[in-house]
Amino acid sequence: MTCKQLYGPCDALIHGATAEEMMANSQKHAMEIVAKGDKVHIDAMEAMKKQHMSMTPEAVKQWMEKFQKDFAAWPEDK
Ligand SMILES: [Zn+2]
Repeated sequence: MTCKQLYGPCDALIHGATAEEMMANSQKHAMEIVAKGDKVHIDAMEAMKKQHMSMTPEAVKQWMEKFQKDFAAWPEDK
């Protein structure tokens, strides 16, 4: 999956054997790029942080379930 499919702003490929690993790797990718001062990713991270803060635990659970379904349905390059 790409950074974009994981709600990020770029087309970098993210690899992971499980949905959890994919999430962790996408966060790692974002952190690495943010550390280099990439404005697009910094903005995306900020927007995501704000969104997460306003999400209820139930909404977070639903988001994770949706992501895991997307991940399971994704045919290649997991
Ligand atoms: Zn990215």
